[in-house]
Amino acid sequence: MGAGTTTGISPVHHTLRTVFGFESFRPNQEMIVSAILNKRDVFAVMPTGGGKSLCYQLPALLLQGTTIIISPLISLMKDQVDAARANGIAAAFMNSSLGQREITDLYRELKSNRLKILYIAPERFAMPQFLETLKGIPLALFAIDEAHCISEWGHDFRPDYLGLSAIPTLFPGVPVAAFTATATQKVQQDIINTIGLRTPRVVRASFNRPNLFYQVEAKSGVEEQLLAFLKDHEKEAGIIYRTTRDSVDATAAFLASRGIRALAYHAGLPPEARERNQEAFNRDEVSVIVATIAFGMGIDKSNVRFVVHADLPRNIEGYYQETGRAGRDGEPAHCLLYFSRGDIPKIRYFIDQVQDDAERAIVMEKLNQTVRFASHNVCRRKQLLAFFGEAYPEENCRACDICTGLVRQTDISTDARIIMSAMARTNERFGINHVIDVVMGADTKRVRELGHDQIKTFGAGRHRDKMHWRFIVDELLAQELIRQDGDRYPVLKLTPKGATLLTGQEQISGIKREEAKTKGRRKQVGDLGSSDRALFERLRIVRKKFAEEQEVPPFVIFSDRTLHEMCRHFPTTESDMRQITGVGDVKLERYGREFIEAIRAYKEGPAHGGDEG
Ligand code: ADP
Ligand code: MG
Repeated sequence: MGAGTTTGISPVHHTLRTVFGFESFRPNQEMIVSAILNKRDVFAVMPTGGGKSLCYQLPALLLQGTTIIISPLISLMKDQVDAARANGIAAAFMNSSLGQREITDLYRELKSNRLKILYIAPERFAMPQFLETLKGIPLALFAIDEAHCISEWGHDFRPDYLGLSAIPTLFPGVPVAAFTATATQKVQQDIINTIGLRTPRVVRASFNRPNLFYQVEAKSGVEEQLLAFLKDHEKEAGIIYRTTRDSVDATAAFLASRGIRALAYHAGLPPEARERNQEAFNRDEVSVIVATIAFGMGIDKSNVRFVVHADLPRNIEGYYQETGRAGRDGEPAHCLLYFSRGDIPKIRYFIDQVQDDAERAIVMEKLNQTVRFASHNVCRRKQLLAFFGEAYPEENCRACDICTGLVRQTDISTDARIIMSAMARTNERFGINHVIDVVMGADTKRVRELGHDQIKTFGAGRHRDKMHWRFIVDELLAQELIRQDGDRYPVLKLTPKGATLLTGQEQISGIKREEAKTKGRRKQVGDLGSSDRALFERLRIVRKKFAEEQEVPPFVIFSDRTLHEMCRHFPTTESDMRQITGVGDVKLERYGREFIEAIRAYKEGPAHGGDEG
């Protein structure tokens, strides 16, 4: 322990630097690591990308014996082990994907104490041979990843996880650390009680993901919108979520027809195809995946640069989890939601199938929360964090459309009153389309039959197009001046607040989204100038070469963040290279030289240095 430590650095920090290549801990990591090193049980909630793996991998290296990590997904296990091995850690996984020979070999390694880390699936715990083996060897720690799977109150309950409650009794001297990215207070208590954690150190990290930029845009002709968005994000990896399998297939095909390589992922595909597409995305062979929400659980890919929701999510919790897959490496990433009230009836259709009244009311309220999130003129980050019971202290988050002024207040008083007056004069008995028809003076049979061409507001809004009136209606709904009433054929009604404003003089303002300004919004830390971009592309090629040689995803070699730092600091010596985040001893030795050479070649090359030619 601590051998070779440079003066003044604790063994923990030394390992952080030399093995993982990190200069400092992320929030809460150090606290968790030291609790484990003091043999204390831990319960930790940290958002996706918060760096949970390090919390158990680092102590695993400093403690005597083997660390057993329980993880629910086979595909994740492999990536985690690849990543640990890439840092020179003796790690392996044992699950049903292995043959008998491999399992036998693993048992031998386990018994001779050659493994620092072993990943297993929860069902392994029910196997007597496995338990017997564990009892015979020194153990450092049990780490339970995705610990919410043990709770029936959570959203991913796995009966197999219940078997883990035997750990504290069977292995009284070994600390247990449970990790999750989602836990309400109720789920938290449930996890702690069910596993039987012994006065654990409880750590709840902030759910804020400062590197994520949140944006909501009005949805209209979403496939063309996606195309334009992707043009701005060429060569970046991203996920596009859609609600149904059909729309996933259609969007993937549309993008392909426009020359963008995008693969589809949904539960209707054969398992092999699903796995193949997931792997291709994981390994940077294809940059865009169009998926239903079934996608994402099984990937730890750290360089996802954008997550787009092309349809309205059903609840905020899911939305947060899905957007959370962006930017795990801590570099800026973009979360864009295309919002249209037209998506609401489709979701309501599913909600209406829910038999239980109480349950239906809950899912309905969750949908309403999502609609408010998308339509209210309030910092997106503040809204998301409030959802998790966290108060966001800053006035301006500087990383959402509201706070960066992509939306602007405009006076919509006159137009708002035209809509509300048309509603009032038709006795609040008609839906959005008809009200807009009346306002625009449409010559339809229905308007004539109802005599609505005779009312005072008929045609009062002829000078503006339908999109504009739709926008006004959306604003009024968002501000709760009007509401939709009725399930199948919802009609517009004035709320008491709206009725007061209709006859009053007060100004009504709305948020106007400025489409043209949405470009170039991501001028955050980490954005690269054009010359560095070129180096980044070269380094990506080097990374890809190593990844292919070793049959691991590229982010296992180096994260985007690591490459970006190289592009900013141009390390051309070993000691400079060691300063880069993510470059530990083993990676420096394995990959350092080639990356240094690529950087040198770039610096000296004719293409570098500004002007063309
Ligand atoms: P989680 O499991 O909480 O979603 P991971 O353990 O997968 O997060 O870590 C997310 C990313 O953050 C990984 O790329 C990891 O290498 C990186 N990371 C973790 N800890 C640090 C740190 N202290 N400094 C820099 N990067 C870190
Ligand atoms: Mg994780």
